[in-house]
Amino acid sequence: MFKTIRRVTILAPTGVRNLSLSAATLEKIGFIGLGNMGGGMACNLIKKGNSVLAFDVVDSNLQAVVSQGGVAASSPSAVAAECSKIVTMLPNNAIVEQVYSGPDGILSTIKEGGFLIDCSTVDPALSKQLAITAKSQGVEFVDSPVSGGVNAASAGTLTFMVGAETEQNFTIAHQTLQHMGAKIIHCGGVGTGGAVKICNNMLLAVSMIGTSEAMNLGIQLGLDPKLLADILGSATGRCWSVDTYNPCPGVLPNVPSSNDYKAGFGTALMTKDLGLAQDAATRAGAATPLGSLAHQIYRTMCNNGFAEKDFSSAFKFIQKK
Ligand code: NAD
Repeated sequence: MFKTIRRVTILAPTGVRNLSLSAATLEKIGFIGLGNMGGGMACNLIKKGNSVLAFDVVDSNLQAVVSQGGVAASSPSAVAAECSKIVTMLPNNAIVEQVYSGPDGILSTIKEGGFLIDCSTVDPALSKQLAITAKSQGVEFVDSPVSGGVNAASAGTLTFMVGAETEQNFTIAHQTLQHMGAKIIHCGGVGTGGAVKICNNMLLAVSMIGTSEAMNLGIQLGLDPKLLADILGSATGRCWSVDTYNPCPGVLPNVPSSNDYKAGFGTALMTKDLGLAQDAATRAGAATPLGSLAHQIYRTMCNNGFAEKDFSSAFKFIQKK
């Protein structure tokens, strides 16, 4: 949508240095939230030839993207004053609300015709509310949470689950998301991307706890953990938590459990997603007994020093008990 055929210079508002677009630039995109996921995603947009105006409250995260060719902005409103298309990748509901609707937020300066893509995992109800507010200003909004961890974010192989009101909005989102992902799926109207995401993560949390229990029991019964994982992985207990992300240290290389549960997907983030699933289940009147129990287990882990560890540390937590 923002194809340049000649070099143009955009006048910068306060806090933003001049942003020039070369002939090769595909789109000019604002990017807010440059953490574990957003940092790699913004860099992929740059690598694919887009011009990125970036903002994060943590300066080192912002500078990491600037060092790859991004341009620094001073606030979400400064990004929105310059860019008609903006991607956000933020931790939770409260921060997404502040970045969009706060006094210095995106919606305070975005111009009519703007297009907003929120990739954060948040409550689908919040996405719907933001879409309504944006629409009242002549701006389109889609939710597009991701599946795939930090490695997929850096490699540009994420799966995007897009909630877009129209096929046209999906197409506009796709144009940008294709530079950061391998699979982009239109799930339905705004909020459906988030709905798929929280269902998936609730199932993942339950399967991770189940796998941890089975691995721990097997070890207590004298089984070799690698042998147990190998057989489970080709038997009816097979799942991603068993054969791709096994929580028992030493069973698989290159997974957080074999690296003291560092990096990966934090227990605090999983706990947040389980809370979102419980809120949504309460509103929908859906029974989620195992989701509720998984939420309690992960909350207890957060209160016992596991908050910053990968969520597969459920194994360590169960083993300690
Ligand atoms: P993160 O905490 O590493 O990154 C969030 C970034 O947002 C940080 O750089 C932080 O400084 C920035 N931020 C916080 N408040 C801000 C504000 N007011 N304005 C601008 N920037 C602000 O989190 P992450 O792991 O990158 O996850 C981001 C989202 O993606 C979350 O919703 C998470 O649930 C989801 N997600 C994460 C993973 C994963 O493996 N880490 C996988 C799938 C989905």
